[in-house]
Amino acid sequence: MTETETRTKNFTIEINQDWCKGCYICVEVCPVDDIFFIENDIGEKGFQPLDVHNLETCTGCKLCELLCPDLAIVINSK
Ligand code: SF4
Ligand code: SF4
Repeated sequence: MTETETRTKNFTIEINQDWCKGCYICVEVCPVDDIFFIENDIGEKGFQPLDVHNLETCTGCKLCELLCPDLAIVINSK
């Protein structure tokens, strides 16, 4: 399993890259503009991979986790 875990001040954001299908619903529903980052280059799965940056602004609302259709994101409190 390919998994990225990003630690913020208050939360961890885990993205399971094997399950992510690049629908970017998480990006659309996140109330903070610049947490998620869509890479420019097409990855081996045929879409632009999702990544996380500007970590400190995550509010922990879990909208991304709740609305990801593939259960590819997990937000945990530290
Ligand atoms: S909502 Fe889930 S499947 Fe869609 S881009 Fe985000 S992590 Fe990937
Ligand atoms: S928990 Fe909320 S604020 Fe944090 S990345 Fe997910 S949707 Fe955005």
